[in-house]
Amino acid sequence: MTTIAKKLRGKGIAHEPGAPTLTLENVTVAYVSGASSRALRRVNGTAETPHALENITFEVFRGERVAIVGPNGAGKSTLLKLIAGVLRPTEGEVRVFGHGPAGHICIGYVPQRSQIDWSFPVTVEDVVMMGRVGQIGLFRWPRRQDWAVVRQALARVNASHLAGKQIGELSGGQQQRVFIARALAQEAELLLLDEPLAGLDAPSREAIFQILDSLRPDGVTVLMATHDLNVAAERFERVMLLNRRVVALGPGTAVLTPDHLLQAYGGHVQFMGEGANTMILADTCCDHGELPLNKRG
Ligand code: ADP
Ligand code: MG
Repeated sequence: MTTIAKKLRGKGIAHEPGAPTLTLENVTVAYVSGASSRALRRVNGTAETPHALENITFEVFRGERVAIVGPNGAGKSTLLKLIAGVLRPTEGEVRVFGHGPAGHICIGYVPQRSQIDWSFPVTVEDVVMMGRVGQIGLFRWPRRQDWAVVRQALARVNASHLAGKQIGELSGGQQQRVFIARALAQEAELLLLDEPLAGLDAPSREAIFQILDSLRPDGVTVLMATHDLNVAAERFERVMLLNRRVVALGPGTAVLTPDHLLQAYGGHVQFMGEGANTMILADTCCDHGELPLNKRG
């Protein structure tokens, strides 16, 4: 059996004992094939390079919840794709539990809604079953226990009643919950969510946080890209402020300072009021045109 076939038929890559959930070391991404950062610098003749991400280094540990914020084009989706193994770094290294992301079945990736073809004719339970492929192995049929896992995952996100529906028929909040159910069925230990809150009403957002809270006892690690600075500060242990580079990474109160926000958002951020009552208004929009507000206190 080839190595690839072994990986597909097996249970993914074994985790290195004691390794952090996620490690990025000096990661740079250029959407120009075959171009290293040195080559790009030579072409441009300046330090400015058309990198989506530049020199990103950080670690995330088991069970942590990290929000990724930054203006449009900051590289949030690129970062999540790198960690999901959808994209390879131009330079540097990404390690999940001590190994490259390829071959891991423990990474649950929920792409930005605008990147999914919602007209694809597939039912909700089939979408969730796709999460089982790594556990079942390709070219094998799901067994009764796999269908039981799918049903449990749908129940956990309160979507059992949607099982037979076409994915395109659902509301935005329901679609996000179904994709989270797919990650649950996959038994993901690292959950990557790309703007799952965009366009959702308050109850749908709350439903997603309830699901994430229910994953805490299992030690599931969550990285979520969001435009909502308020949510980032209040609901996550750490916030990464990104603009091609990591501007700051740490607790929300330490990261979302006027100085850091000006570095990341430039003129697209306004401060209203003073001290603990400062309101931060970032006029950068997500898929659904929200204006994120943050009240610092
Ligand atoms: P964000 O999610 O923070 O809005 P992205 O990761 O989508 O940022 O994009 C980062 C940068 O990379 C942007 O300048 C964007 O135009 C560019 N980019 C993203 N995807 C591609 C692609 N497939 N080809 C070329 N450039 C891309
Ligand atoms: Mg994005």
